[in-house]
Amino acid sequence: MHTPCSTPLELMRSRYEAFVKEDWDYIVETSIKQKIQDFKDINSTEWLKLDVLNAYDDIVEFKAYYRENAKIYVLHEKSSFVKVDGLWKYLDGELFNSKIERNETCPCGSTKKFKKCCA
Ligand SMILES: [Zn+2]
Repeated sequence: MHTPCSTPLELMRSRYEAFVKEDWDYIVETSIKQKIQDFKDINSTEWLKLDVLNAYDDIVEFKAYYRENAKIYVLHEKSSFVKVDGLWKYLDGELFNSKIERNETCPCGSTKKFKKCCA
């Protein structure tokens, strides 16, 4: 059981945890548009790291790093949330075409630069 989230940022973090655990019921329950069918055939993704870049009003901008087929990618999204009957829910998101910088610390958890690690 989850306790209701009091801010969009809190909800965003709990939804990230739900993606890690593949808890699609929670994802659907906390969103306006997403349906359980959207996740039925999803490939297992290994989520590595969440960086929140910005959170204000009903917006949370984040980068989430994940590994798929031995390659690391970044999902950069600005999410919008809306309050329904006193509960925050995910509305939708704007995606950015971001890449992992070669000189940034590798998202895999090593302390090496990305270019010298998983790039
Ligand atoms: Zn690495």
